[in-house]
Amino acid sequence: MSSIPQNLQVVHEAIALSAARYDRNPTEIALLAVSKTFGAEQVVQAWQAGQRAFGENYVQEGIDKIAEVQRMLTGQLNVEQPVWHFIGPIQSNKTRAIAENFSWVHSIDREKIATRLSEQRPTTAGELQVCLQVNISGEASKSGVHPDELLALAKHVTQLPNLRLRGLMCVPEASEDEAVQRQAFHQLAQLKQDLQTQGIVVDTLSMGMSADMQAAIAEGSTIVRIGSAIFGKRHYAV
Ligand SMILES: *Cc1c(COP(=O)(O)O)cnc(C)c1O
Repeated sequence: MSSIPQNLQVVHEAIALSAARYDRNPTEIALLAVSKTFGAEQVVQAWQAGQRAFGENYVQEGIDKIAEVQRMLTGQLNVEQPVWHFIGPIQSNKTRAIAENFSWVHSIDREKIATRLSEQRPTTAGELQVCLQVNISGEASKSGVHPDELLALAKHVTQLPNLRLRGLMCVPEASEDEAVQRQAFHQLAQLKQDLQTQGIVVDTLSMGMSADMQAAIAEGSTIVRIGSAIFGKRHYAV
């Protein structure tokens, strides 16, 4: 039987191995534990094993869990709190809850959403750290800004007072072929380069999940978003 602490250890070892293989500094690859569909108890188990950043896809599930985890951790000697990242599709009527409860958002793909998040970010919370989600594989069903519209969106976001543009995120079309996986991640890395050439400061590539983490690290990922390899198989449709 594998447990969350053991799984975390295995994932950290896999990150270190991939980093060594592709000549990357492992300290530049952050692990985001994607806890969607899992409960506050599992988050706290990961927390107690040293995990600090958690990702959620659904607003209501996420904010309920954040409150519950906070309750469970209250009274522990460690006053530090988890850092919550929102990584799911964003409807405009949910932006306030996201702006008020999360530290990071990875899935901005249009100006209207960015503007609302900035307007609704409580000033006491500091800047919301954001990534722009790019539809790298061009799938009609996937969210994400089209690569041709990325520069305009990035420029818009850099003008917003309460958002800090950190980088790009993608969820490529699933493939078991590592060469295909790398090609998609390479495109995202190239788009980040293009933004930098335009004078836009970005330091983050949010890419790589349980099934394609190594390919993402090979192509320069700085945040891998890992769910099932840490928490196990998800048990309801997502
Ligand atoms: C669910 C999800 C993940 C984690 O996927 P796993 O395959 O469980 O590692 C990462 N990123 C996004 C956007 C997700 O929705």
